[in-house]
Order: sequence, then C-alpha cells, then structure tokens
Amino acid sequence: MNYRKRFLVEPGAKVQLGELDPDFTGKHANETAAKADIADDLERLRKLQYRLYAEHERSLLIVLQALDAGGKDGTVRHVFGAFNPQGANVHAFKVPTPEEAAHDFLWRAHAATPARGHIAIFNRSHYEDVLVARVHDLVPEEMWSKRYDRINEFEKNLVQAGTHILKFFLHISPDEQLRRFKKRLDDPQSWWKLNESDYAERKHWDGYRKAYEDVLERCSTKRAPWYVIPANHKWFRNLAVASIVAYTLDELDPKLPKPAADIGAIRRAYEEAAAATSPA
Ligand code: AMP
Ligand code: MG
Repeated sequence: MNYRKRFLVEPGAKVQLGELDPDFTGKHANETAAKADIADDLERLRKLQYRLYAEHERSLLIVLQALDAGGKDGTVRHVFGAFNPQGANVHAFKVPTPEEAAHDFLWRAHAATPARGHIAIFNRSHYEDVLVARVHDLVPEEMWSKRYDRINEFEKNLVQAGTHILKFFLHISPDEQLRRFKKRLDDPQSWWKLNESDYAERKHWDGYRKAYEDVLERCSTKRAPWYVIPANHKWFRNLAVASIVAYTLDELDPKLPKPAADIGAIRRAYEEAAAATSPA
C-alpha cells in the first residue's frame, strides 16, 4: 500500500488540519486485517536499511512531530525497531540545555544529522523552535518568523549533501489525546510519562494547530516533504509511516558496493585452508 501521495503536503499548498480525518484507516478495516501488510513493510525496511548502510553514500533523516500523546514514541518502537541499531539513531529533542540554548537553534539539530549510510530519527526536532517557541512566546515573533526560511535552507543543504528527509506529523484529535491521557492515568506503568503540563498544553490546542499549519505550508518542499499521518489508530499510523519510509528507500535503491577484495583468490585460499584441515 502506498500512502505517499495521499498524505503528502504538496509544497506551497494551504493546509487545514480540521479537514484531515485523524480516524482514516484506508482499505483496512482493523489491525488484524492490516497485520500482514505491516509485517511486509517492516521486512522491506530491514532489507533496505542493510543496503543503505552497505552503500555508505547517502543517509536518511526522519522527523517525527506530534502533540503530546500523539504517538511519537510508539512509532519509534513499532516502526523503527525494524532497523539494525548499528546504522540507526534516535534523537529526542527536549527543552534546550544551557549549552544548546547558547547556540543558534539549528546547532543541536545539525549535530544529530545522520552520517553516510545511517538513518537518524528525530523525536521532536528543530521544528519545536517554530512550535512551542511560538505558542509560548519563548522568543519574539520577529525572531521565530524568520526561522522557516532558515529551516528550509538548512534542509536544502542536507539534501545536497546526500541526506534524504522525510517529515511526519502524527495527527490525532483532542478526544483521542484525552483518551490516551486517561489510559496513562489508569496504568501505574505509565505514570512516569505523566506531566501536569500535558493538560495545560491542551488549552493551546488552537495555537498549536495554527503553528503546525504554518510549518506544513511553509516547510514542505519537494526534497524534504511533510506528511500528515492520520494517527488516532496506532496500527494505521505504523502502517502509513512504515510504507512511506519503505517506498522512499526503495526509490533510493541503495546498491551494495563492489567487493574490494578478489573474491576468487579468497575462495581459493579458503579451499586450501579447508583441505589442509580436513581429516586425511
Ligand atoms: P517529551 O517529548 O514529552 O519528552 O517532552 C519534551 C519537551 O521539550 C516538550 O514539552 C517540548 O515542547 C520541549 N521542547 C523541545 N524542544 C524545545 C525547544 N526548542 N524549546 C522549548 N521547548 C522544547
Ligand atoms: Mg510528553
């Protein structure tokens, strides 16, 4: 299933999140019906990452953004668990440390970008600097309003250096968020995740919606596209993200490098060694 076209934010298109259905599940009626397709996509991710790593030329940056309880952690676990950790890295962006805050806002993002052959997953990202920073007036408008262009330039530079970029906004409804908060409240194993500010943040739902719409409109580019993923159903979110990443890696078509060694000579050496150790 290729959801790439369906959930893509066309560069420059106007976005109204209220018109995008967070409950959408496409042709699959439920998780059971989607199981085989999800497993297929995860298997494709495994194989493609192997080739990307071996090729050691290009890299992939995946940005995950969502409101609280939007499913960023779950996506990391269920989708990117398919990757070999040797070539994949998850970087969670928190409130900037004093050292990070002492630098320009892209400094910490740049430092976490993927090396050749690697995949980096940003759990939150440099976009927080035009989201939380804007909604909470952490910096004056004069400052955050200039950041969209800076972000586009930054991403363009990465693309030119061989990093492919995919950006996912996990779209949930306010009701679904409340259901997830309640589930956490009912499960002592989840209490560590609870935060009074999660509830306070709900008051800013409209502010975040506007801030996200601006991000999607201004920073979805051909080379570094945004996708809005219907995320009320976790299984569908996983399916959609996995299929878009797999499709993209497939298109990159990473190639195994030519062998650096003379395979024939190594085979002959092996056969001699094997003959010398086999019982007479
Ligand atoms: P969590 O993802 O639940 O661990 O929370 C991380 C927190 O860090 C969230 O409340 C984010 O809004 C906050 N955060 C991330 N980046 C920034 C930033 N650049 N400025 C201020 N707060 C941030
Ligand atoms: Mg949180």
